[in-house]
Amino acid sequence: MTKDQILDIDRRHLWHPCTQQKDHELQPPIPIARGEGSWLVDVDGRRYIDGVSSWWVNLFGHNHPRLNRALQQQAERIAHHIFAGFTHEPAAELAQRLVALAPGNLNRVFLADNGSAAVEVALKMSFQYWQQSGRPDKIRFVSLTEAYHGETVGALSVGGCDLYRDIYRPMLLDTFQAQGPDCFRCPYGLSRDRCDAPCFEHLERLVAERHREIAAVIVEPLIQGAAGMRIYPPVYLRKLRQLCDTWQVHYIADEIAVGFGRTGKLFANEHAGVGPDLLCLSKGITGGYLPLSAVLATEDIYQAFYDDYATLRAFLHSHSYTGNPLACALAVEVQKIFAEEPILADLAPRTALLDAWAERFRQHPRVGEFRRCGLVAAVELVARQEGKIPFPWQERKGYAIYRRALEKGALLRPLGNVIYFMPALNIPLDTLDQLLDIAWQAMVEELGGA
Ligand SMILES: *Cc1c(COP(=O)(O)O)cnc(C)c1O
Repeated sequence: MTKDQILDIDRRHLWHPCTQQKDHELQPPIPIARGEGSWLVDVDGRRYIDGVSSWWVNLFGHNHPRLNRALQQQAERIAHHIFAGFTHEPAAELAQRLVALAPGNLNRVFLADNGSAAVEVALKMSFQYWQQSGRPDKIRFVSLTEAYHGETVGALSVGGCDLYRDIYRPMLLDTFQAQGPDCFRCPYGLSRDRCDAPCFEHLERLVAERHREIAAVIVEPLIQGAAGMRIYPPVYLRKLRQLCDTWQVHYIADEIAVGFGRTGKLFANEHAGVGPDLLCLSKGITGGYLPLSAVLATEDIYQAFYDDYATLRAFLHSHSYTGNPLACALAVEVQKIFAEEPILADLAPRTALLDAWAERFRQHPRVGEFRRCGLVAAVELVARQEGKIPFPWQERKGYAIYRRALEKGALLRPLGNVIYFMPALNIPLDTLDQLLDIAWQAMVEELGGA
């Protein structure tokens, strides 16, 4: 097909995710022909730095030789088979590796095929655990304001981003929401590197009061991603672990975005030295090749389901593509790459480069904050620094910067007024520098004030 044919059919028949399709009148989707490391290449040969790891999934770049080979080798054996009553080597090896590496005492791996499904699994496991453990009143979930856990109805119910949720409110579960951390506009006037997370009081009070009804608390450890890469300190997670122990409530860690090295450690919980009762993983798990997710559970949770069939205590949840061997083979290869290549150690010069650019961004009169955790960095734009006054969302400053950056050869996908960078962990230093330079140029062109 020619480019025009692709675009014509796309316009007539496709419906893209998280998109007002009318925006395509202004900015048609870009047909991509191939990928090369940190670059996307379109059908005209134009190149774009993938500054957001293609929605946070790509870990080691596109068209990666080792991942390509792992995928091809598995495809020549079998692409997929039923995972109930059957198993396979890639799933076994993946489970063994994940259990060995995961924070805390997680010993069981349940597989699904996307992040939202993993969240649904974790919520259902926690719910059913209490039903089968003599605590049938523990049926409600607690999440934080501005949380994001996916788009399916259960996952959306524990979400806190009104943009994605408001219209569906009547169909959502009745959950508790606690005021979460807001380090950029800290109500206590503290800074995130030197605080003891007094904002934890909101969650603490809620759980202390309502623990009899609460099955689990679910959070995104260290970075609330979709909320605009809102970064908060590890002490919050230490307090959360303790709170959950005190009141017999599960801690569900949604590391779908932050897992697999994004924060500088393999898992974000490692920064706090704690482990959850249920851990949701996806996105980077296959290096950004195929959809796969995993929920890791403690042996204690698993045992509440283990009994004679007739007790009906089994976890009767499945997806058609559960345990997909292609995806598992890729996930195993991703773990081998982490084990054999100095991916995490080599983040240091990349984070140093981000920190150098941070100095420059912070001088700009429309930058309220430049924050970073691992290889995730975010620039929060403000209409006025004094009072941290945001731009009205209707002005779509982020979207305007997105379009300017595309012209210059970089894929940014700002979240409202937050421009962020979440490149592949092995992005070459000069490419990262170019990405930041393009973002800077796009920002200055749009907002002035260089
Ligand atoms: C992306 C994401 C999800 C949902 O994953 P999908 O695969 O998009 O369904 C859930 N939680 C977090 C923290 C995420 O970033």
